[in-house]
Amino acid sequence: MKHGRKKTLLLVNPATKNGSGFIINKDTRYQPLSLGIIAALTPPDWKVKIIDENFRIFRYYKADLVGFTAFSSTVTRAYELAKLYRDEGIPTVIGGIHVSMVPGEASEFVDAVVIGEAETSWPRVISDFENNKLQRIYQGPLSDPIESPKPRRELFHPAYIFASIQTTRGCPMNCDFCSVTAFNGRNYRYRQIAEVISEMEEIPQKNLFILDDNIVGNTVQAQNRAIGLFKAMIDRGIKKDWIGQASLNVADNEEVLKYAAKSGCRMLFIGIESEREDQLVGANKKLNAKMGVNSYDEVFRKIHKYGIAVIAGIIFGWEDDTIERIDHRVKFTRESHADSIQSTMLTPLPGTRLFERMKKEGRLVMNNFPEDWQHYGYESLVFAPIHMDRIELQDYIYKAYNKVYEPAFLKRRMLKTWWRTGSLTSAYWSFMSNWNYRRMVYGKREKPGK
Ligand code: SF4
Repeated sequence: MKHGRKKTLLLVNPATKNGSGFIINKDTRYQPLSLGIIAALTPPDWKVKIIDENFRIFRYYKADLVGFTAFSSTVTRAYELAKLYRDEGIPTVIGGIHVSMVPGEASEFVDAVVIGEAETSWPRVISDFENNKLQRIYQGPLSDPIESPKPRRELFHPAYIFASIQTTRGCPMNCDFCSVTAFNGRNYRYRQIAEVISEMEEIPQKNLFILDDNIVGNTVQAQNRAIGLFKAMIDRGIKKDWIGQASLNVADNEEVLKYAAKSGCRMLFIGIESEREDQLVGANKKLNAKMGVNSYDEVFRKIHKYGIAVIAGIIFGWEDDTIERIDHRVKFTRESHADSIQSTMLTPLPGTRLFERMKKEGRLVMNNFPEDWQHYGYESLVFAPIHMDRIELQDYIYKAYNKVYEPAFLKRRMLKTWWRTGSLTSAYWSFMSNWNYRRMVYGKREKPGK
């Protein structure tokens, strides 16, 4: 390295290799927040560049150090790109939820793996690189409260319609199919409200996606903290429209909904998962099972009262699904008061109990890793179901989506949302959200080859 020259850190956000998933729609692409944070944690004598495949295909860019983030469905691409640099002797680093679950795999394809959250380990990665002693594995403790610098947002592609921001991390629910608890911990950890507000003030986009896995949490303290955040947004005149994620208990305290709405909340995503209590219990989705499937519409009604629309996350292709159950689920989604339906296929992600069980039972059909990780994007069945042939069930689900996202039905549903929420913005957003999910489930459908 020449003395005096600024070193270059290249950060890459890879896309799925088949171009499927959220990337299909411009307004479902989310900023790679972790890369903005890593850029902010990098000393000022470095030049940092982000290549974001959400907007453009990777083209080789010279760098001294190359960092990747990845989900399971994008990690195959990350490893492929890392090879280009490793072949030239340029060190590569990877972080994110996937490699935190399978660091051994990742270290075969990159030089260093960051397990867990970057804030507590990235400064060490940089200083070790500068001292020529990069380690294979870095693992930092979870900081509580979260101490995270403002992401360098000027490095994100300017075409993002939604700006991402995170105010809490962690989830105590520990559902069988989700790796959030393993990655971010069981305890809710908060960022200081003043820091979050100051960050919001600098965001140019009108629309925010609050990435927190559960903005409200499951304790009174968490509810009060959420109310405190919303009140601070109102007091400071943030004036953004936002989407967030919550669990079914979000309507327990209507003050939360009142201040969420006043602070600009237009839609809430709720993981409903199934209309069958045995599936909820089997997946350890305790809260939904406890509140009961009959509580769903009442919760949606309360949320609507404050002008907020609901995106219900519904899983198709549970391992014990049958044709009758899929038909019933379609009927349930059409009759539900949810405004938008996010349909996903059950996907055993690494690091989850579901993955370990299916692996032990020899039921992971897509198991040629890392190549097959690209199919772990919730759009194909990657395992052998119990009662049906995998392809038969998958094809039946694809057909079922025709009814979930039937255009005439979606238009009627938009009018219903408008009527129930009294908000044109929420009605429009929920229609667009349905339309985007429709495009995603039809967009780049993976044809399983096994
Ligand atoms: S699915 Fe939602 S509630 Fe369950 S562990 Fe993941 S983030 Fe928590």
